[in-house]
Amino acid sequence: MIVMKFGGTSLANGERIKNIVEIIKTRIEKKPLVVVSAVSGVTDLLLNTAKESAEGKNPNKKVEEIIKIHKDILKELDLKEEFLLNDFVKMYDIFNGIYLLKENSPRTLDIVASFGEILSSKIVAEYLNSLKIPAKQYCGWDAGILTDDNFTNADILSETYEKIKSCLADPDKIPIITGFIAKNKNGEITTLGRGGSDYTASIIGAGLNVNEIEIWTDVDGIKTADPRIVEHAKQWDKITFGEISEMAYFGAKVLHPKTIRPAMKKQIPVRVLNTYNINNKGTLITKESQEYCPVRAISLKNNIVIIKISSIKMLYAYGFLAKIFEIFNRYRISVDLVTTSEISVSVTLDEPNGNSKNVDSA
Ligand code: ADP
Ligand code: ASP
Ligand code: MG
Repeated sequence: MIVMKFGGTSLANGERIKNIVEIIKTRIEKKPLVVVSAVSGVTDLLLNTAKESAEGKNPNKKVEEIIKIHKDILKELDLKEEFLLNDFVKMYDIFNGIYLLKENSPRTLDIVASFGEILSSKIVAEYLNSLKIPAKQYCGWDAGILTDDNFTNADILSETYEKIKSCLADPDKIPIITGFIAKNKNGEITTLGRGGSDYTASIIGAGLNVNEIEIWTDVDGIKTADPRIVEHAKQWDKITFGEISEMAYFGAKVLHPKTIRPAMKKQIPVRVLNTYNINNKGTLITKESQEYCPVRAISLKNNIVIIKISSIKMLYAYGFLAKIFEIFNRYRISVDLVTTSEISVSVTLDEPNGNSKNVDSA
């Protein structure tokens, strides 16, 4: 078995979806499980519409725009729109609910964001079936992914892996699974943080102990820097779990920072590949690296907060740092960089809600 994850740009229109179906066809004998993101730009549109609705702007025009993006894709793929009508109606209801109540909590935002992956996964499954390639759509929760209640940035509960096994062990049709979205124990929709479909792919892969996790995106592989910023960045053939985790955590958007954890636990190789250039072998991420490489890459992270704490009490004292970090721990805030001097300590943090978003999310 393998997991194949396709990001937003790989699903941006009918042509791109036809292209990923061609890629899936080349892997049929490997028993692929497919994880998809929302269509490029749709998650941002959904979340912005929720924000504007809560501020009192009638959402109907924006909802129409989101629906049109999907209807255009259906047309290009020669699919009827009936199978999405319930979701379209639900979208109007939810946004009008936000508009009337002016309520835009993290819990609501996760319900809103879930439409992106629900619609894209249903389209891909329907298209495969129209080509007589049997496929079945799964939401993250149908696939067994169970999370805590940390809406907009949830993490999985340990029983997830057993549940995935019982939900997906021996599928007779290709599972097309929503990335990014899941449910908590109360049955409420949660999301795994922006860019979280990569993490879904790795969770599913670890749950089923697959042979390889393929992350299909819009670059040839992992490079020495973001190629959108550094034009001549070099591609790596191989890189280690540790190196890519550092890169991702510090802003290399090519993988969600948590992606590597489940794969690494089960020693499952992860390969980053380009849907626009399928002949490129991509970058293989594994445990070991033979070569010595003092600097692997340069990452960029936006929207960070720097806190400088100064106190003369630090001088010759002990336990000061422990007390500071206990406060971050209590509020579940992850600290990136730390510098200290005799009387001050500076730390950098992600955006306050822990929902850090790097340049250009889907
Ligand atoms: P997807 O929609 O497929 O999840 P993303 O936009 O989330 O794709 O991630 C792919 C993008 O990651 C690339 O287009 C590239 O601009 C960016 N990126 C940032 N750092 C790197 C890096 N070191 N190597 C490759 N790509 C990178
Ligand atoms: N659609 C979600 C986002 O834009 C998840 C993903 O693309 O991985 O953040
Ligand atoms: Mg991504």
